[in-house]
Amino acid sequence: MPAIHSKLPDVGTTIFTQMSALAARSKALNLSQGFPDFDAPPALCEALAKAVMDGHNQYPPMAGIPALREQLAVQLQLHRGVSCNPDTEITVVPGATEGIFCSIMACVSAGDQVIVLDPCYDSYSPAIRMAGGESVHVPLLPTTFQPDWDAVRAAINTRTRMIIINSPHNPTGATLAAADLLELERLAEEHDLLVCSDEVYEHLVYDGKQHHSVLQRPGLRERSFAHYSFGKTFSVTGWKTGYCIAPPDLTDELRKVHQFVAFVAVTPIQHAIAEFLASQPHYPATLAQEYQRRRDLFCNALTKSPFTFTPSAGTYFQLLDYSAISTASDTQLCREWTEDRGIASIPVSVFYQQAPPQHLLRFCFAKRDDVLLEAAEILCRI
Ligand code: PMP
Ligand code: GLN
Repeated sequence: MPAIHSKLPDVGTTIFTQMSALAARSKALNLSQGFPDFDAPPALCEALAKAVMDGHNQYPPMAGIPALREQLAVQLQLHRGVSCNPDTEITVVPGATEGIFCSIMACVSAGDQVIVLDPCYDSYSPAIRMAGGESVHVPLLPTTFQPDWDAVRAAINTRTRMIIINSPHNPTGATLAAADLLELERLAEEHDLLVCSDEVYEHLVYDGKQHHSVLQRPGLRERSFAHYSFGKTFSVTGWKTGYCIAPPDLTDELRKVHQFVAFVAVTPIQHAIAEFLASQPHYPATLAQEYQRRRDLFCNALTKSPFTFTPSAGTYFQLLDYSAISTASDTQLCREWTEDRGIASIPVSVFYQQAPPQHLLRFCFAKRDDVLLEAAEILCRI
């Protein structure tokens, strides 16, 4: 047997895969891994079937088909009031995970440090390590999960190359305010940092608030990769298609990596989304209202439960604090409740390098009303 020198010796299977498998084995309601249990808009599915039947089945251009990139530039203008060049600044990728990986691989070298804000999405750190870099974990403030910009400033040194931000935030549902982007802009300019901005839940922001994108701040626009996922926007997580917007010099570097990691994203999916967006450009803006309704349905059904919570500001995740119910660890409790109570969730501690003493589980509310009500009923009985 050859010796294997693992690149990621301490990494196992992701918590999402583990919990979805346990939910299936236990026949539990699966509110763990984030995916909708309802269908995509029928017109989008029909457009995909048509694209396949029309013969759009060979390699597309490496950066994505022009028709889709043009629609994405229209979307950016429509929702964020920002213009971009679809040829030189937009790259269609097979999922935001790949886009994020490529942006890190393109710009982080051996010895570089990258700041991540804990709790953070599980793909960031392994990507940084595979690029030869080192992730520096700065915790978000407890309870509010807002960035502690003084702590971020204190973590910056001459080796700091990039900072990764995520708003709306998985797993906490917190969102960044315009003032946060101003702080970030100041820091990034002062220390010449690159920014990798994970904005995959951009359209899921509630209570009348707006999403704030790095693309809207000129000082961030010139140094940021902004990542998006059609999986979230169109309820098709299994289609694994997204895109990255970055200035031309950063886009060039991203594409150099992307062309050798995946080369392209799936052709007929690109045609289907281009056609759908051309005919329904305002569809993404309708999502917030519908998801807020689901959030409120779930939260209202939990008001008499012993859980404490603040309704999520964004994403399709709701955190519940079980301090009044148990002192068990979140990893242990979420397994127990999946097996014994028939409800699966995600423990929040796994998204930290060093988790604080808190008792939080994440529940995905991108589910049908009957599933949300049944889940809440189980949780109220606990
Ligand atoms: N970032 C965050 C915060 C996510 O929740 C997800 C969802 N899986 C992704 C990135 C990856 O998206 P995709 O499925 O398009 O790779
Ligand atoms: N983003 C999804 C979540 O947070 C899961 C994606 C995955 O399974 N890798 O639940």
